[in-house]
Amino acid sequence: MAGLAVGGLLFWSTSAADRLALERQTHIVSSLINQNVASIANDQESFTVWDDAVLRLRARPLDLGWLDSNLGIWLHTYYGHDAAYVLDPADRPLYAMAGGVRGRPEDFDRIRAVALPLVAELRAIMRRGDARLPPGDLSPGVVDILIADGHPSIVSVKPFVPDNRALATARGTEFIHISLERLDGGFLAGMRADYRIDGARFSWRANVGPQERALALRSRNGRAVGYFIWTPFAPGTTVFARLAPVLLIALLVVAALVFKLVRRVSSRTRQLHDSKAAAQHLAFHDSLTGLPNRALFDDRLDHALAIYRGTAQHRVALLYLDLDRFKKVNDTLGHPAGDALIREFGRRLQDVIRITDTAARLGGDEFAIIQTEVSSLAETEALCARVIAAASEPFVIEGSQVFVGVSIGVALAGKDGLDSTELTRRADIALYESKSQGRGRHKLFAPSMDEPIRARQAAERDLRAALEADDQFSVCYQPQYSARSGGVVGVEALVRWEHPENGPMPAAAFIPVAEETGLIEPLGEWVMAEACRAARDWPSSTVSINVSPVQLRNPHFANRAIGIIGEAGVDPTRVELEITETALIENAEECARNLRLLRAFGIRIALDDFGTGYSSFKHLREFEVDRVKIDRTFVDKIDMRAGGSAIIRAIIDLAHSTGLQATAEGVETEEQRSFLEAVGCDELQGFFMARPMTADQIARLLGPAAPADVAEEAAPPPRRRRGDAAA
Ligand code: C2E
Ligand code: CA
Ligand code: CA
Repeated sequence: MAGLAVGGLLFWSTSAADRLALERQTHIVSSLINQNVASIANDQESFTVWDDAVLRLRARPLDLGWLDSNLGIWLHTYYGHDAAYVLDPADRPLYAMAGGVRGRPEDFDRIRAVALPLVAELRAIMRRGDARLPPGDLSPGVVDILIADGHPSIVSVKPFVPDNRALATARGTEFIHISLERLDGGFLAGMRADYRIDGARFSWRANVGPQERALALRSRNGRAVGYFIWTPFAPGTTVFARLAPVLLIALLVVAALVFKLVRRVSSRTRQLHDSKAAAQHLAFHDSLTGLPNRALFDDRLDHALAIYRGTAQHRVALLYLDLDRFKKVNDTLGHPAGDALIREFGRRLQDVIRITDTAARLGGDEFAIIQTEVSSLAETEALCARVIAAASEPFVIEGSQVFVGVSIGVALAGKDGLDSTELTRRADIALYESKSQGRGRHKLFAPSMDEPIRARQAAERDLRAALEADDQFSVCYQPQYSARSGGVVGVEALVRWEHPENGPMPAAAFIPVAEETGLIEPLGEWVMAEACRAARDWPSSTVSINVSPVQLRNPHFANRAIGIIGEAGVDPTRVELEITETALIENAEECARNLRLLRAFGIRIALDDFGTGYSSFKHLREFEVDRVKIDRTFVDKIDMRAGGSAIIRAIIDLAHSTGLQATAEGVETEEQRSFLEAVGCDELQGFFMARPMTADQIARLLGPAAPADVAEEAAPPPRRRRGDAAA
C-alpha cells in the first residue's frame, strides 16, 4: 500500500516536473527565434543608417576592404551572420560574403530568387515613404524566415540611408543590404552550448524520435519552412530512472524513504527552476552589459504605463540615450574598444538610476531608461544631468582616455494614457532634436517638434504634385552686368513656385526639401531645359543655372546636362553652372569627374555663395572653376567709411591671380556698385540694377538675337536706375 502510494507520488511529481520543463523550453526556443529575427535587422542598422556607408557605396572603385570590415566579414565574426550581400540601386549585387569569407558578387544568384521579392517589397515601402517604424528602428526593413541557398534562414533586407538629411537619395533607389542567418548551423550550436538545449537539430519534416519535440519554423505567411527538433530536458524522468532499483530493494524501508524522496524531487524541481531562470536571464538581457535588452525593455515599459495610466500624481518618463562620437571610437580604436566603452557606460548607468527604474541597451550605442513614479519634471531633469555627467567622465580604454558624451530625448506619460508606441516615438523625436542642437544635452519632447515633421511631409507631397502638375513652376531670370561697361552680359535662371493654395513660395523654402527628397534632380533638369530653350533665342549672353550638390554627386549628371543643352540647341560655351563648395567637399570624386566632363564640353563653372562655406582657395585651383560669385552677405557689409571691404578686395585679387573672374551678387546700392567697380570686380548682379524677371522681359531687355561677335554687351547700361522690372 505504502509502496503504491510512494510510486504514485513519484510518478505524479516527476511528470509534473517534466511538463513544466517542456513548457519552459518551448517558450525559450520560440522566443530565441523571434529575438534573432529582430536582432539581425538591429545589427544591420549599426551601419546601414550611416553617412559613411552611403558615401562609400557611391564611391568607385569600391573599397572592398572597408566593406569586409564593416558590412561583410565583420558581421560574421561579430554577430554571427552567415552571409551578407550588398545590392546597388538597380538591384545588381556589388558585394557578397558567406561564412566569413568574401565571395564574388555573382554569388548573390544563390539567393536571388528568395531575396528579390523582399527587396522589391522594401523598395515599395521606401518609395511610399510612409513606413511606420517599430520603436527603436531607424529605417524600414523586411525580414522573413525562408529557405535560402538550401538552408532555412532568417533573411533580413535593409536600405542604406544616411543619418544626415543632407545626403538623401531618391526614395526606392537606395543601396540595399541583405543579411542571412542560417537556422541549421551556428544558431543550433548556440542553442546547445548557451541554452543547454540537448540534441538541437533541424529537420525538413516534423517526424521526431520518442524523446524529441518539434517546433515549426514559420515564414511570415505561416508556411512551415522546417522544424526545430530537440530532446527536452526531463528532470523528473532522470530522477525516476535512477531511483527505481533502489526503490525495489528498499521497499521495506519505504516509509522512511518517502519523505526523503519527495524532498529530493522537489529540490530537483527547484534546481530546474533555477536553471530556467538563468536561461531566461540570457534571453532577456544584453550579453555585453547585462542590462535588460529590447524585449524586456518593451515589456517593462508596457507594464509601467499600465500601472501609472490614470494616476494623476505620478508619471513615467522615457529617456532615449545615444552616445555622441561613439562611431569614431569604434572606427579609430576598433570594435573591442567600442565594446569595452559600452560595457563601462552600462555600468555607470546602473549607478545613476534608482532601483525601481530600468536602464536597457537597445542595441549599438543606444540605451534607454524608464523612470517610474515621477512626481515632478525636476526629478527627470536631475536624472538627465546625472546621466550626462556619467557619460562625460573620461573612459579608460586599453590604457588611454577616451571622451564621448550622451544626447538624451525625453518623453513623459501620465494620465493622458499614452501608449508605448507613441511614447517611444516622442522620445525618439526629442533625441533627434537634442542631437541636432549640439550634443551632450537633453531635450524634452514638445508638440512643436512634430510640426516641422508634418510641415516637411506636406511640403514634400505638394512638391511631388507640383512636378506632375507642370504649370506651377516657372523660371525667371536676373540680369548680370559688366562692371566695366555696364552692359548685360548674362542672366541667372531662378526657379519660381506658385503653390496652388499658399501662393508664391520662396526658393529657399522648397529647394532644401527638394534636395532631401531627391526631387531636385527632375526639378533641376527641368529648369536647365527651360533656361537653355529661352537662352537660344537671346543674343550671346551667358545663362547661369544653379546646380545642387545632390545633382552633382550623381555620376550621370554631366552626361545628362550635356544632353539637355544639346537638345535645347544652345551653344555650351554660353552656359555657366553655379555650384557650391558643399558639393566639392562632400563628393569630391564624383564632383570632379562631372566638372571635368562639363568643362571639356565648353561649359563654364561658377562657385556660388563664395565666402559663406569653407571658402578654400584650394578648391578654386583643384576643381578648375571659371568664376567665383562673392556672396551677398559680404556685399551687404561694404562700408565706405571703413574703406569698403577688405575681404572683397582679397577675394577679387586672389581670383584674378588664379585666372578666375569675380561676380558680386546682391548689389543693392550705388555705393556698393561703385566700390565693386573700383576694386575690379568683373560682373555685378543685384536689385540695384535689376530684379529677376520673366523670359519675355529679358528678351525685350536684350533685344533681338545678334551674331555672337557683334553683341558682346547687348543692352545700354542701366547703371544708376533702381531696376524693378519684375514688379
Ligand atoms: P542664389 O543662387 O544665391 O541666388 C540669388 C538669390 O538672391 C535669388 O533668390 C535672387 O532673387 C536673390 N537676389 C538677387 N539680387 C538680390 C539683391 O540685390 N538683394 C537681395 N536681398 N537678394 C537678391 P531666390 O530666387 O529666392 O533664390 C534663392 C536660392 O535658391 C538661390 O540662391 C539658389 O541657391 C536657390 N535656387 C534658386 N533657383 C534654383 C534652381 O533652379 N536650382 C537650384 N538648385 N537652386 C536654386
Ligand atoms: Ca546662384
Ligand atoms: Ca549665390
